[in-house]
Amino acid sequence: MTGYRHLSYWLSGLDEPLTPRPGLPGDTDADVAIVGAGYTGLWTAYYLARADPTLRVVVLEREIAGYGASGRNGGWCSALFPTSLPALARRHGRDRALAMQRAMHDTVGEVGRVAAAEGIDCDWRAGGTVTLARGEAQLQRARAEVAQAHVHGLTDDDLRLLDAGEAAARCNAEGVRGGTYTPHCAAVHPAKLVRGLARAVERRGVRIHERTAVTALRPGAAVTAAGVVRAPVVVRATEGYTPGLPGRRRVVAPVYSLMVATPPLPEETWARIGLAQRETFSDHRHVIVYGQRTADGRLAFGGRGAPYHYASRVRPDFDREPRVFAALRRALGELFPVLGPDVPVTHAWGGPLGVARDWAASAGLDRRTGLAWAGGYVGDGVGTSNLAGRTLADLIRGVESDLTALPWVGHRSPRWEPEPLRWLAMNAGLKIMSSADRTEHRTHRPSRRAEAFTRYLGH
Ligand SMILES: Cc1cc2nc3c(=O)[nH]c(=O)nc-3n(C[C@H](O)[C@H](O)[C@H](O)COP(=O)(O)OP(=O)(O)OC[C@H]3O[C@@H](n4cnc5c(N)ncnc54)[C@H](O)[C@@H]3O)c2cc1C
Repeated sequence: MTGYRHLSYWLSGLDEPLTPRPGLPGDTDADVAIVGAGYTGLWTAYYLARADPTLRVVVLEREIAGYGASGRNGGWCSALFPTSLPALARRHGRDRALAMQRAMHDTVGEVGRVAAAEGIDCDWRAGGTVTLARGEAQLQRARAEVAQAHVHGLTDDDLRLLDAGEAAARCNAEGVRGGTYTPHCAAVHPAKLVRGLARAVERRGVRIHERTAVTALRPGAAVTAAGVVRAPVVVRATEGYTPGLPGRRRVVAPVYSLMVATPPLPEETWARIGLAQRETFSDHRHVIVYGQRTADGRLAFGGRGAPYHYASRVRPDFDREPRVFAALRRALGELFPVLGPDVPVTHAWGGPLGVARDWAASAGLDRRTGLAWAGGYVGDGVGTSNLAGRTLADLIRGVESDLTALPWVGHRSPRWEPEPLRWLAMNAGLKIMSSADRTEHRTHRPSRRAEAFTRYLGH
């Protein structure tokens, strides 16, 4: 496969040429310059242009719109936020934490509404998420999660416990003992969403320049080899690629998530597996896995577990890690033995996401410098980036709103440690969590080390 199609199953099958848009022709003036044409950059452009069509908004993208995580992800448009509700409540108080979570709930509906209004056919299906509990340790975590959510103001309408029968009725995986269900998630085709969004912002007058790498970001300017975009506001929307920008190496750490997709499965297989509402699915293990039933009847399944690369390096060959692909196939086969001993896979890919040192996502604008940013979503950026886009649009236009009062706005995460500490900590954490999953699978008891590590991370 040539060009950009090999980057993910989603990009591979798009019914459109992935020809780059024209690059920046030379120096230019704008009201807002946005660096990065993933969901964050494009949602920001969208809400700015919608609120004020006179604004001159320029988006600069090193490759093509959707090149990054936005064109490669698991397609969970969820209300998940990298900081848990209890942790948010500890930091910001119960009311503000709940406001944040409610804003995330609303965001799922907002993405669906805008996609429909803009004619973005992204295989949207709001079937919620079922998170299975397989084994006693996972069941304990499921119960604790629901209890905590309810203590902090959510109800069964937001997150509820499922017994074994209810969980298996939604997702009939092996060894299901129960689970949790939230309606606040939709399965989407991520690349159709990001590519459709790029067209939607262009229709509203935003200029997108592709194959235009920004080499420096400074107050009033985004600098490229082809010219400088001078703008009073410059937005950094580069998520996992941020460490490649001068002066920003330790802002987020790029962590790789990898995925595989099966061929379209026969109806008899789906009758055994379930996911009739296209619920996104996972289980309560530590090293996250996630899946969706795609609109064309495949299982798209991913997980963390790839190593963090020294010095926050991001390279195309890191997208492919045969060991992790093999582990994903194994995990899929364990979940659904109906797939057979050798789970068929047609596509395998991956990409970097962004993790801040305190695991906290943030969106903000420094009024003194005009530099704005959003990111650090960990693996929850499909929904969160929309909230970021709406929030940045308000901040940039100087509008005070419920969104700009949310606790993540203006939050400054500490920088990551210099190497080799960063490398040691990231990969040690991964080892602890992977070994906890293996131990729990064997002993059915929760791993104390993993619990301690989760507490240390402040989740
Ligand atoms: C495999 C995988 C699965 C995931 N699954 C899910 C999921 O199911 N649900 C969920 O909510 N989240 C998921 N995520 C995370 C989610 O995809 C991201 O949080 C989200 O896409 C981030 O969007 P973004 O626009 O901030 O960043 P990106 O989509 O990464 O976009 C950043 C853009 O900036 C461009 N860029 C970088 N540097 C420069 C530069 N110097 N000059 C110009 N342009 C530049 C890049 O080319 C890229 O297009 C997943 C991520 C991965 C990798």
